[in-house]
Amino acid sequence: MNFFTCDHCGARLFFENTTCLSCGCTIGFLPQEGRIASLEPAGNGLWQRTGGGGLLWRKCRNYEVEGVCNWMIPAHEAAEYCPACALNRTIPDISDPAKKALWAKMEAAKHRLCYALLRHRLPLIPKSVDEARGLAFDFLADPDPRFDEGRSPDRILTGHQNGVITINLAEADDAVREKMRLDMREVYRTLLGHFRHESGHYFWDRLVRDHPAIDEVRAVFGDERLDYGEAVRRHYAEGPPQGWGERFVTPYAAAHPWEDWAETWAHYFHILDTLESAAAQGVHLMGEKGVYPLRDPYVHPFGDVLDDWHALRIVLNSLNRSMGLPDPYPFVISPAIAAKLRFLHDWIG
Ligand SMILES: [Zn+2]
Ligand SMILES: [Zn+2]
Ligand SMILES: [Zn+2]
Repeated sequence: MNFFTCDHCGARLFFENTTCLSCGCTIGFLPQEGRIASLEPAGNGLWQRTGGGGLLWRKCRNYEVEGVCNWMIPAHEAAEYCPACALNRTIPDISDPAKKALWAKMEAAKHRLCYALLRHRLPLIPKSVDEARGLAFDFLADPDPRFDEGRSPDRILTGHQNGVITINLAEADDAVREKMRLDMREVYRTLLGHFRHESGHYFWDRLVRDHPAIDEVRAVFGDERLDYGEAVRRHYAEGPPQGWGERFVTPYAAAHPWEDWAETWAHYFHILDTLESAAAQGVHLMGEKGVYPLRDPYVHPFGDVLDDWHALRIVLNSLNRSMGLPDPYPFVISPAIAAKLRFLHDWIG
């Protein structure tokens, strides 16, 4: 994630800010420009950049009414929702304040995902606009057993199918998610990680499934025509194969080629976003040839990106250990995994 400064007073701003804490002016993210801007009222509920000039903007409805977004829409566009919120198909019952608080966390993670996808010039097409190729999100809460007369209701499963990403609202509850992480013996489980992983499945359908050169993808990730249900059942029954860490970024990636693609996709975006944050903050590292600045991963060759990541990963984990916290990136990028990341980078390109 980039970091931003207030156009009005120069104070530091973060991606989620709605107000400059230094000068009090209104802040909005301009998705077309990929930046945060300071805004001033321009009449009729519209906004303009501080100092005037340029386009007029309107707040996304989820900014104006619900307070779970800070993205702006050009005033000449008819859209009610910004490009990130337009992807929502189902949101929880927000008359319940607890559910609304969890939804707000979902939105924060989803907006970060959308920022990175836009930065990569990947299309954000709402399913409401293109049923066949579009993307939609369903944020669903498990049925409340108190109203279910003792039957055991179906739990909501987080996953992707035909352009619909479903995320169980409970994943936004830190205590619940941490328990699931421990129960499933995972070293990493975050809301943002879910968004990245499931978006990988969606973009497989968009970028790979119907591609004439799909055999090139199969040569790297395996043959996805392997029975998926059977493969995942075997994974949960038997665990990953011996020596999985040489070939797969996580144990789950070993379950099936689709999961390998989605896990590699998620890690690709973990790496890009973290490096972008460090580069934007001016972080320098000590290398063999002296001190060097971390480079913007969106514009530099992928070999540099991987080199920077190998160095930053160690710093990142060391900083957390100093605070008595677990490693934020408890994974090893083996040469085979680096080759998959590089393939994915080239394929997206
Ligand atoms: Zn300011
Ligand atoms: Zn929005
Ligand atoms: Zn998956």
